[in-house]
Amino acid sequence: MAEAAGAARPPADVSSDECLREYRHLFSADILAGQVAFITGGGSGIGFRIAEIFMRHGCRTVIASRNLQRVSEASKKLEAATGQQCLALSMDVRQPQTIVAAVEAALKEFERIDILVNGAAGNFLCPASALSFNAFKTVIDIDTIGTFNTSKVLFEKYFRDHGGVIVNITATLSYRGQALQVHAGSAKAAIDAMTRHLAVEWGPNNVRVNSLAPGPIAGTEGYRRLGGKFAEEGEHLAAIPLQRAGNKTEIAHSTLFLASPLSSYVTGTTLVVDGGSWLTSANSFSALLGIASSSAKL
Ligand code: NAP
Repeated sequence: MAEAAGAARPPADVSSDECLREYRHLFSADILAGQVAFITGGGSGIGFRIAEIFMRHGCRTVIASRNLQRVSEASKKLEAATGQQCLALSMDVRQPQTIVAAVEAALKEFERIDILVNGAAGNFLCPASALSFNAFKTVIDIDTIGTFNTSKVLFEKYFRDHGGVIVNITATLSYRGQALQVHAGSAKAAIDAMTRHLAVEWGPNNVRVNSLAPGPIAGTEGYRRLGGKFAEEGEHLAAIPLQRAGNKTEIAHSTLFLASPLSSYVTGTTLVVDGGSWLTSANSFSALLGIASSSAKL
């Protein structure tokens, strides 16, 4: 394999939910100066790194999920590493009243919200025939309905009158009908549709709405649960055009692009950030079944 040239060389990342030990700005360091981002699922994995990278670009953040201890600990780390303010709030995207309370608390603290990142999600591997009715519904409830609930509350409370940016974190699972993923693939495909509907309806209010679809991203709960053993077998990584898994900093950089004025004329689209993975990776049912038994279920 050829050594990655500058434009394909991954930025540094750490695999745990810790901040980067060092960071070199690629975008202008003040590109989000004065702005506030509300990030669901911001206490872990990809959402945590998005919060960190936004804060390293001058943004204050709200990180919200069910587990207050998790987001509180994350906010302390983020503030210490970046010097920016991070408000940790407890909220369940399935319960609109908890979203209303969290958005009101965020507006009380910061008096503005410029960016919403819908990152909260749940997933596990399971064959469709073994999936309980409730398990399918739960994933739709968190991913799809949760994204709608949070977007609607943000629109009504702030974006309708002030404009804003929404980035929905989706996935490439449905593009080729990934085995054992009918629940998450269906949920994320519906969010990509929602992105287009809301971009059309809310464009006149100066609200941009886009999806970002990550491929396999190392150092995340999703990768550990869904791809860990599979990806460790080198042939699966070799099947990816860029020959490797992505990292959380790469997803955060692409989210930063979509959230920033660099993408001021981009709305209603899905940015796939997967090293070309969905085009070539095997949809190997038997290999996936081998790891299905070690995956958690909702
Ligand atoms: P993760 O660390 O498990 O993040 C999911 C977050 O969602 C958690 O912080 C969780 O916090 C929160 N959450 C779950 N249910 C919630 C609810 N009902 N209300 C509010 N928050 C809730 O996973 P990740 O792997 O970094 O994934 C982040 C995003 O990227 C997800 O949308 C995922 O589908 C997408 N993605 C990931 C990959 C990958 O390779 N990792 C690939 C494609 C797409 P609490 O438990 O505290 O609620």
